Amino acid sequence: MSRVFNFSAGPAALPETVLRRAGEEMLDWHGVGCGVMEMSHRGKAFTRIVERAEADFRVLLKVPDNYKVLFLQGGATQQFSQIPMNLLDGGSADYLVTGSWSQKAFKDAERMARNIGGSVRLAGSTVADVVGRVVPHAEMSLDPAARYVHLCTNETIHGIEVQDESQLPLTAAPLVADMSSHILSRSIDVSRYGLIYAGAQKNIGPSGLVIVIVREDLIGRAWVGTPPVMDYKVMADNGSMLNTPPTYAIYIAGLVFEWLLDQGGVAAIERANIEKAKRLYAFIDASDFYANQVEAGSRSRMNVPFKLADEAMNDEFIAGADAAGLTQLKGHKSVGGMRASIYNAMPLGGVDALIAYMRDFASQRG
Ligand SMILES: *Cc1c(COP(=O)(O)O)cnc(C)c1O
Repeated sequence: MSRVFNFSAGPAALPETVLRRAGEEMLDWHGVGCGVMEMSHRGKAFTRIVERAEADFRVLLKVPDNYKVLFLQGGATQQFSQIPMNLLDGGSADYLVTGSWSQKAFKDAERMARNIGGSVRLAGSTVADVVGRVVPHAEMSLDPAARYVHLCTNETIHGIEVQDESQLPLTAAPLVADMSSHILSRSIDVSRYGLIYAGAQKNIGPSGLVIVIVREDLIGRAWVGTPPVMDYKVMADNGSMLNTPPTYAIYIAGLVFEWLLDQGGVAAIERANIEKAKRLYAFIDASDFYANQVEAGSRSRMNVPFKLADEAMNDEFIAGADAAGLTQLKGHKSVGGMRASIYNAMPLGGVDALIAYMRDFASQRG
């Protein structure tokens, strides 16, 4: 068996130790005689798994006690509609748009507001900029009475990240953040947010699972037509188990959390992520052959899009990378070029191997 360095944006590479452990436990979890996929979600064994997963997640992100942690389904995309259903409450919400994901969230919220009452405002946008960037404070027009302010703190497709909490909107309204593609990659202050959500398939585990961290005082005022499985209050009151949760996905997420704790937690993985991103951007910036189109203060540590000086060489670049065991480097179709996603599970060795390949390719074709 040989595993490649997988630069997929998502579903993305998982730590090898997690996959090995899941393999070992596939047929018989801790001597109970069956695997996790085959056990009741209300039984003792799975209760241990989900309680441990939540506890570890809370430790990793230092989640304050007045926040609920929910394990939900439907991916981050379902949250685009579920957030206004639960939080809009007939009022108005502000949206910052910095790339494809926050744009989608904005569009879905607009449609939802038309259906349920309330409204949605564009409070700042950089999505049309040639050089990507977060919305600077001076370009935000925030409504102090907004029910919430939504932003995507890491734009997976464009490679734009809120690098520092000083870049967050300054407002008394609760911040709602899509952290799908950088959750657990850096230390955050959860208390700065009203709600954080993250689809699992980038830094947590299998797709379909979405984790929501929500401040308790924000739940319980969902639109009257909200289906119970989409009502945060109902799900919180039922320990995310109103119905059968995605048990296997939660189990794998739990293994990833254990792995992160073994690495030294979020602070340690953040140091590794800083080093990986620093090496890759430094190489790109020093090269005439490759270019990244994001302002320095907004560059993502997780998703590094780049273009070749001669785009006619894209296919050759991808084919050579595949042959070298460096896979899924093709950029999103809406942006073109290349994208290296270097999430927590990507070792420094994978980034070094990518840089070596890029250097060789440029020196032969550049
Ligand atoms: C991947 C991604 C999504 C969509 O996730 P789904 O699970 O496909 O719904 C939303 N937001 C961000 C930032 C993402 O990276």
